[in-house]
Amino acid sequence: MENFNINNLVRPNVKDLKPYSSARDEYQSTGTEMIFLDANENPFQTDVNRYPDPQQRSLKAELAKLKSVNSANILLGNGSDEVLDLLFRAFCEPGMDNVITLPPTYGMYKVLANINNIENREILLTTSFEPDVEKILKAVDVNTKMIFLCSPNNPTGNSFSEENVLQILENFSGLVVIDEAYIDFSEKESWLSKLGSYPNLVVTQTLSKAYGMAGIRLGICYASEEIIQILNKIKPPYNVNELTQQRALLRVLDSVKINAEVTDILKERGELIKVLDEVDFVEKIYHSDANFVLVKVDDATLRYEELIKQGIVIRNRTTQPLCENTLRFTIGTKAENEKLLQALKALN
Ligand SMILES: *Cc1c(COP(=O)(O)O)cnc(C)c1O
Repeated sequence: MENFNINNLVRPNVKDLKPYSSARDEYQSTGTEMIFLDANENPFQTDVNRYPDPQQRSLKAELAKLKSVNSANILLGNGSDEVLDLLFRAFCEPGMDNVITLPPTYGMYKVLANINNIENREILLTTSFEPDVEKILKAVDVNTKMIFLCSPNNPTGNSFSEENVLQILENFSGLVVIDEAYIDFSEKESWLSKLGSYPNLVVTQTLSKAYGMAGIRLGICYASEEIIQILNKIKPPYNVNELTQQRALLRVLDSVKINAEVTDILKERGELIKVLDEVDFVEKIYHSDANFVLVKVDDATLRYEELIKQGIVIRNRTTQPLCENTLRFTIGTKAENEKLLQALKALN
């Protein structure tokens, strides 16, 4: 990406902002024991009576080690949803700029575009659920600030071909945001290792899926130091609370357990696919690199209702483009999966 210049992308008002800094920021690193009477906190211990570290240093250091990046390449948020919203607010001028998304995909990109009054140019995936690179690049104009690629994609489950992603990275001078919420379930390599080669690359990940921490809300943005500095200017100072930082750190340190759980989930995914393959009303099982499987059936709404009657809630994706009569099954525990398998057999 030759003619990439972050200064042409960032909103003018954001370019002029200074990051918020608290008195705590300035003195925390000196190492001497200070008495903090600066923030009107209650001095009595509750474990959470102090404001959290606005830069989440311990957690970032651990993530940096795990992912082989620098802490300066990381921004953390209240779930990926906040991270994605910060990207919109830093780079897209309301009523003027646009982004490109590739349905069928994660619904939040469109929601955030609408909230921020940003035009969302939707370029459908091909019938094999790959980005239509030619159409995407044709839809780009001077106001196109970001292209969202979700890989592995939700709800289709596939990862995009490296070739297609590279073509977009190399031919688009705005930000290419690759949402890797499901990367830990995939055998494909993360795009994180390409951060140094593409200044326009932004990778988002989350603790909500493979890390099993949807309840604490922790989203991660990896990008160039320049991009992270811009996002830091606009993030709410205490956007990741103390309890989240503590729980996330403990979990990130426990990679053995996480890997074991991922292995179990992938095994259960295999079991589900085997049974689905035998079910008469199943017409197609799409390849999955994630912790869910998209399946084409005879009548998605009917089958969805039948499973509800058996106490099992899945996701009916039939209204999504290219997803007519599809259902999305999240992989549960072995016990949950067994109940699902029984229910499917009973419907067969
Ligand atoms: C589940 C999911 C997320 C996670 O969002 P959080 O706000 O981090 O919980 C992000 N992107 C995609 C595509 C998802 O499916």
